Amino acid sequence: MASQNSIHRTGLYPGTFDPITFGHLDIINRAVKLVDELIIGVAINIGKGPLFSLEERVAMVQYEMDIISKDKGILITVKPFDSLLVDFAEEQKADLIIRGLRAVSDFEYEYQMVAMNDVLNDRLETVFLMADLQYQAIASRLVKEIARMGGDISAFVPENVATKLLAKVSAGPT
Ligand code: ADP
Repeated sequence: MASQNSIHRTGLYPGTFDPITFGHLDIINRAVKLVDELIIGVAINIGKGPLFSLEERVAMVQYEMDIISKDKGILITVKPFDSLLVDFAEEQKADLIIRGLRAVSDFEYEYQMVAMNDVLNDRLETVFLMADLQYQAIASRLVKEIARMGGDISAFVPENVATKLLAKVSAGPT
């Protein structure tokens, strides 16, 4: 177990990332200022019926993390997980869980999650970050809808993701 006073701070940013957007990337660029090492936990999240497979989501996140890691000189690893978040965080020896807050609508769910996670593991702290105003409204779900309707998604997701998303929606329902 990581010591509470450890100098080396590991952050864990969990999510579905179906797919990763400029909103997520903005949060990651802020998170790297707070930690020495960042783990991006890609949740299997079958319940949410993701458009992309776990492998595809991990690969898209990894592609962007290679760019940020190089640019910022910080260790960022991408790992899939299918366990309880607190268990995964413990296994990864994470000190902080990073979450992004969009609108008030995120608050209720996040508030409950923190309260319940605190009962399960009181060593972990959750840190909430807000994205830059221009990225705050971006949600993976809406980006997928826009792509399905043939709209321009270049303002919401990086180029590699846009290419993969367009290929996916033009291939029709899976
Ligand atoms: P979930 O599947 O838990 O909704 P996502 O994979 O969509 O999560 O996102 C992971 C985290 O990133 C969540 O904390 C979510 O609130 C945050 N997030 C997603 N998009 C944005 C955004 N545009 N601005 C700020 N935070 C965001």
